[in-house]
Amino acid sequence: MSRDPRYDVLFEPVRIGPVTTPNRFYQVPHCNGMGRMFPDSMIAMRGQKAEGGWGIVCTEQCDFHHSGDIQPYTETRMWDDSDIRYLAGMVDAVHEHGSLAGIELVHNGHSVGNLYSREVPIGPMHRPVTVYNHPIQARAMDLSDIRAYRRWHRDAALRSKRAGFDIVVVYSGHDGTVPTYFLSKRQNQRSDEYGGSLENRLRLFRELIEETKDAVGDTMGVVVRFAVDEMMGADGLEWGNEGREAVEMLAELPDMWDVNVSDWSNDSMTSRFAPEAYQEDYIAFVKQVTTKPVATVGRYTSPDTMVSAIRRGLVDLIGAARPSIADPFLPKKIEEGRPEDIRECIGCNICVAWDMLSAPIRCTQNPTMGEEWRKGWHAENIAPKASDAHILIVGAGPSGLEAARALGQRGYRVTLAEARSELGGRVARESRLPGLAAWARVRDYRLGQIREMANVEVYLESALTAEQVLEFGADHVAIATGAKWRHDGAGRDNLAAVPGAEPSRVLSPDDIMDGKKCPEGPVIVFDDDHYYLGSVIAELLRGEGREVTIATPAYCVADWTHNSLEQGHIERRMVELGIEILPRHLLASVGDGSAEFIQSPIEKSVSRDGSLVMLTMRMPDDALYHALNDDPGSLAAAGIKSLKRIGDCFGPAMIAAAVYEGHRYARELDTQVDPDAVPFKREHYELELG
Ligand code: ADP
Ligand code: SF4
Repeated sequence: MSRDPRYDVLFEPVRIGPVTTPNRFYQVPHCNGMGRMFPDSMIAMRGQKAEGGWGIVCTEQCDFHHSGDIQPYTETRMWDDSDIRYLAGMVDAVHEHGSLAGIELVHNGHSVGNLYSREVPIGPMHRPVTVYNHPIQARAMDLSDIRAYRRWHRDAALRSKRAGFDIVVVYSGHDGTVPTYFLSKRQNQRSDEYGGSLENRLRLFRELIEETKDAVGDTMGVVVRFAVDEMMGADGLEWGNEGREAVEMLAELPDMWDVNVSDWSNDSMTSRFAPEAYQEDYIAFVKQVTTKPVATVGRYTSPDTMVSAIRRGLVDLIGAARPSIADPFLPKKIEEGRPEDIRECIGCNICVAWDMLSAPIRCTQNPTMGEEWRKGWHAENIAPKASDAHILIVGAGPSGLEAARALGQRGYRVTLAEARSELGGRVARESRLPGLAAWARVRDYRLGQIREMANVEVYLESALTAEQVLEFGADHVAIATGAKWRHDGAGRDNLAAVPGAEPSRVLSPDDIMDGKKCPEGPVIVFDDDHYYLGSVIAELLRGEGREVTIATPAYCVADWTHNSLEQGHIERRMVELGIEILPRHLLASVGDGSAEFIQSPIEKSVSRDGSLVMLTMRMPDDALYHALNDDPGSLAAAGIKSLKRIGDCFGPAMIAAAVYEGHRYARELDTQVDPDAVPFKREHYELELG
């Protein structure tokens, strides 16, 4: 197939100073929890991005000095020459596919605690550090510190050149780097030539760009990554005032502008809070004030939206972190005339969460992300079938769908049976809740692929019993029947059932998604799950005109969503909708139309009238599995060689985990798996044992 000419513009080269990118696809710097800790994993992941057609592939943030030590987060470092080797490895992996390699030099100033280096953090002024509320203060940089800082940056740029990078990104954004802090009126209260007027506050950033150009600009493109708006009104930078003026003052200095909004929770908003291309209004002015190429991000997954942004004169390059994670081969698929094969990012930020948790990146849509090196998984290729086996998969949620898709890709004959009249399991159901429409992409991508496979049959309204499975005549059976929310309150906080929590008095999220209505009157959502669903259900009920309270044992509503950068957005939405939040409230008992809580740690009783929606934990829907597994004689007689549980039926978890388990099942079928061996390669350090 050939490319649709409408998309030709995406494949034009763009000059960035002394280098030229082969196309307009720019994988912006993005963190991935691998970096310096898991360098082989990081290198293989970046290599696949280049293989998938991204014209520029950047590192995650690369800390350029030990006074900006972001421990415990797992980024890259360029502290001295010893860091060059693994970064050069990444450059080679990117160059192998003809793409340009970029490095983002970062110093986080007062937003790190320097836990590893033990240096005193630095910034424009004396102040406590912002990370984790550590009892640590950053000290104000004096003029000699600023001179040293500029030298460190220049040295790191020179090392980047020696590592072979084509592009260096000078970074003032995300409310997280020293130049940003100097630029910020809030965070820079200096009275010397680096404080006061915009020109003064911008001085350090200008010097860094000039000195980087001077040091490496003969062979490397110098890109500026800059947040034009902090989305906090007059308290911060706004594109309508100083955000614009700053760009105007530096307009022709860099070789390219990569512009976005700040902080990270605004730049990487989930689909619940922002649609595709949502940053365009903020950055639209940039191309009017510079002749240099401009890029932005905004979860672009549709080639039409990308082309439109270019045609409308907003940008020259399409920046992407999450779309390149969900589909490293997005550019290739457009180039090869098969954009319908794109695995579109759903905007859930599980990728961000794993980085926040200092663990290797995971992606809901792309189960191979982070597994390129340690499991040898390629985002697009998979081993062909190793037998003529016929596989029956029971349940078409994310796990069953992914298993069917990947087994189908391997060439196996697959039958997928689903009890309901729609496919998708929990993603189909949850995608009808407020703000979660993009969740349906987990189903839609897989269905689109399966529809093209003559070897995969799908049956709806087929709730299989053990007898039917045995009669079916499959060689292998995967049970992907999912999980159900409990009604009785047992979960993380209450390990046993809560007195009075009878199914007749309590609704679960499954009941709500099945369309059951709470009795008239107020509703209490008890959220001991701490992820998105409690607040989504509260929002749904509030939208139906109910008075809603959300109670949680955690310190704040949707506590875990700090990791997906959503907590602030969720709390704001709850408050704006008039939903009462009761943090640190433990569920003690459930009455008829009321609930009793214990407020922690003061042990005060609190009661609320209303019906209760309970989110504590889910139980695997594994009766079918056990009925089959407990009868090995019948399994053998039916010729079933293997029976497995996958996804939530095995271990209820996030959608990302269900997709991964479905994919893993497909990869491992007909292979020898040592049940006692670590199922992936590990990275080992060289020890100086002497
Ligand atoms: P996962 O996240 O693990 O994929 P889901 O709960 O999203 O799990 O999906 C499980 C799917 O399995 C649901 O769509 C459910 O209707 C289906 N299912 C459950 N029991 C059966 C059964 N006995 N036969 C066929 N489908 C079933
Ligand atoms: Fe997109 Fe979610 Fe994957 Fe991140 S984890 S790339 S947000 S689908």
